[in-house]
Amino acid sequence: PFDVLVVGGGPAGASAAIYAARKGIRTGIVAERFGGQIMDTLGIENFISVKHTEGPKLAASLEEHVKEYNVDIMNLQRAKRLEKKDLIEVELENGAVLKSKTVILSTGARWRNVGVPGETEYKNKGVAYCPHCDGPLFEGKDVAVIGGGNSGIEAAIDLAGIVKHVTVLEFMPELKADSVLQERLTSLPNVTVLKNVQTKEITGTDKVNGITYIERDTGVEKHIELAGVFVQIGLVPNTDWLEGTVERNRMGEIIVDNRGATNIPGVFAAGDCTTNPYKQIVISMGSGATAALGAFDYLIRN
Ligand code: FAD
Repeated sequence: PFDVLVVGGGPAGASAAIYAARKGIRTGIVAERFGGQIMDTLGIENFISVKHTEGPKLAASLEEHVKEYNVDIMNLQRAKRLEKKDLIEVELENGAVLKSKTVILSTGARWRNVGVPGETEYKNKGVAYCPHCDGPLFEGKDVAVIGGGNSGIEAAIDLAGIVKHVTVLEFMPELKADSVLQERLTSLPNVTVLKNVQTKEITGTDKVNGITYIERDTGVEKHIELAGVFVQIGLVPNTDWLEGTVERNRMGEIIVDNRGATNIPGVFAAGDCTTNPYKQIVISMGSGATAALGAFDYLIRN
């Protein structure tokens, strides 16, 4: 059996695997797609100490770094079940069952898409999901935020300090965000809120140039010119497969303590799949290191 089995090969999983392997213990990593979300990222400018890099380049460096150590890498394998017996068992979609003394879950998350024409075509060409990451790219320009929940309104407030103007589009007749956020938003001079509107299309040529929406009460179609669209309708953790085993919150995030421990002894978690509030590369890597050290601590005590 493994001493540490990491499930997920993004920044959190890679960091956990390196920290575990450096303890000289038997370490494995299973990943559906090594690299994770950064494989879909173009420019990265907030990975501290690296002024600018690109997602696939960072993913290649992660893999190269993991390969420096004696880590059993099982790429293109999806885990479908976890069970705690004497050891912890992780069953893969291909039927194989891996056994380990400890497991680190780092299966990440995915942004919910609006699913309108233009969204996929202009991803990284004006369509963005992370204001902390991509906000500064739109300095002095007009942008829209789709979604009037807490993340949408937080994004709009954040962006209003950087860009020229922000238009918020909310499908429902009312915003769902906390009232303190709504009050803050309405105090800003360069924000317009459109409620009860349905996004129809994100338009563009080689990059985004606007958004078309329908006023739901009148049926009237309108178009605004802008340079960027931030989709903020939810981040979904990849934790469905843990239903009924590891404790998760209402959003499906794995509940961890400050050592990355879950409710199951020997099972740890790190990165975007957890209750860790901010979903970023540098934070995921830190939490991967924390979970690996937590797992090592657990191993020497049990
Ligand atoms: P992920 O990167 O999501 O990795 C999850 C891993 O688990 C993957 O290997 C996946 O294949 C695997 N997996 C999932 N389910 C299973 C399963 N059942 N079995 C086996 N493996 C599984 N952050 C920044 O800090 N700066 C940026 O500029 C930035 N830009 C971004 C741009 C975009 C378009 C996106 C989508 C995200 C961006 N982020 C950015 C966020 C950053 O990518 C994430 O915070 C980070 O990748 C999270 O790392 P993670 O390891 O927790 O999860």
